[in-house]
Amino acid sequence: MRELVILACTQCKRRNYTMTKNKRKHPDRVEYTKYCRFCKKHTPHRETR
Ligand SMILES: [Zn+2]
Repeated sequence: MRELVILACTQCKRRNYTMTKNKRKHPDRVEYTKYCRFCKKHTPHRETR
């Protein structure tokens, strides 16, 4: 039950990361603070599809 998700920066909307996550553990959309190299800082990244 692992699903591929794409993490997009919430500020510049670019898709910076892909990861797999456990849908059972995290059924909702989650946000991760990650470094965006386009914004040159840490920003919240939201999962998209
Ligand atoms: Zn960004």
